[in-house]
Amino acid sequence: MTQTAPQSLADWQALAAALTLESRAYINDTFTDAADGATLTTINPATGETLAEVASCDAADADTAVAAARRAFDGGEWSQLAPAGRKAVLLRLAELMETHKHELALLDTLDMGKPVSSSLGDMAGAIGCLRHHAESIDKLYGEVAPTGNSALGLVLREPLGVVASIVPWNFPLMMTAWKIAPALAAGNSVILKPSEKSPLSALRLASLAREAGLPRGVFQVLPGFGHTVGKALALSMDVDCLAFTGSTAVGKQLMQYAGQSNLKKVFLECGGKSPNLVFADCKDLDRVAQHAAGAIFHNQGEVCIAGSRLLVENSIREAFVDKVLAAAERMQPGDPLDPASFMGAIVDDTQHARILDYIRKGVEEGARLRTGGQALDGPGLFIPPTVFDGVTDDMVIGREEIFGPVLSVFGFDSEEEAVRLANDSDYGLAAGLWSQDIDRIMRVTRWLRSGQVFVNNWAEMDQTVPFGGVKQSGNGRDKSHHSLEEYSDLKSVWMTLTP
Ligand code: NAD
Repeated sequence: MTQTAPQSLADWQALAAALTLESRAYINDTFTDAADGATLTTINPATGETLAEVASCDAADADTAVAAARRAFDGGEWSQLAPAGRKAVLLRLAELMETHKHELALLDTLDMGKPVSSSLGDMAGAIGCLRHHAESIDKLYGEVAPTGNSALGLVLREPLGVVASIVPWNFPLMMTAWKIAPALAAGNSVILKPSEKSPLSALRLASLAREAGLPRGVFQVLPGFGHTVGKALALSMDVDCLAFTGSTAVGKQLMQYAGQSNLKKVFLECGGKSPNLVFADCKDLDRVAQHAAGAIFHNQGEVCIAGSRLLVENSIREAFVDKVLAAAERMQPGDPLDPASFMGAIVDDTQHARILDYIRKGVEEGARLRTGGQALDGPGLFIPPTVFDGVTDDMVIGREEIFGPVLSVFGFDSEEEAVRLANDSDYGLAAGLWSQDIDRIMRVTRWLRSGQVFVNNWAEMDQTVPFGGVKQSGNGRDKSHHSLEEYSDLKSVWMTLTP
């Protein structure tokens, strides 16, 4: 559809009314129903309206797609193409995404409820990711090992083969781009399984990929449930790599599936319960409070790196929490199609009920509910910013990933106590640290067990910096050159030279 730049709620509503949704799977260069005709219903959580009946793929579809992906890989049209050739196609895809970014953003907003301004930010991230990997792939050199003159040792970097990318619903197209851009740039064939809660943008992406010139079988999209098509891909004997973003529980299952099948490589980006440490020496506490609120309420709190544990030095805690409450007041949910909305709707009934259940537990456990706590009246699934103070590390709301707009505030009296609380978690995805004291910043940064540490900011990032977790938050890195390592292997070539 034609893309003009929508500015207002009415513009976005008009664009939504004109949308044509692709609901079929994309297998072997063909848009198709699931082999058994099954479908799943995708709902707009802001209104409760049905958006589409989408193909719900299963094992038979996975088998067809894996066979096509393998044929494509072995055929070499993509895997053996010179990197500059792959670059050209991926840059074309990025250009097409740019042209259609409003439509793609809208699909994510309708499908999972996030504000459209936030979805547009995701598109910039997704397109930037495509461009980064496209641009970098023809600038990477292999190695010549220092073997001595009687031999030549070459170290080549080669694609893995068939990569299955299984992604979540919270940033549907951006998480997709983080996975598929380096995997395709490296020369793999990629099968994308979007979340059953947000398949629409991935299916639109498939048509753009075809238009960009990705050869048959190199990129396929299989919508469906995790326990059906996701599991089938994970157990396949002919998938070489599972690249997963999602919950820690499912990540653990995928490792088992790999062990039960062909020992495929399993690259995981999983959950988090990220601590955000605020020391009393900060100069501008209003600014820090604004960021602390944004760290949890952005994207309705449905963010892997949400700053869901706010650790505040007790000497400023009372005053600081008041500032966070004031900031939260300005972040109330609104119509996701309104560009002015900061928060949108919760993705579906299940997640909505789960968040409310955690809020109930927080109250039962004796944490102090300072704001929020009640769902807004339906039909849309909206939960306002919710803040608990006086949380301790034995409370469920202080330990488990809620994945909703619920902030747990802890107090601490010393740097040691702050670090102990921060590290007392199964997760290690992100941590924030606010202080003016450079010695403290360096000390605490080194002690935090976390894939990334944000110092005097929350979640500033770009494509050049790797993203990923330690502990049960994952085992690899998206973004930057480092992500190519997830999708390629080293081949050592030893050539004996005739003296
Ligand atoms: P989820 O684990 O329920 O689902 C993720 C994907 O896995 C979906 O596509 C789902 O269909 C699929 N899946 C589920 N069960 C499966 C199975 N048995 N076999 C194969 N596939 C299966 O997670 P979610 O609810 O979609 O997303 C929320 C989670 O994602 C949170 O824990 C969040 O922290 C995490 N997340 C992590 C990052 C990161 O970069 N670390 C980014 C975004 C989200």
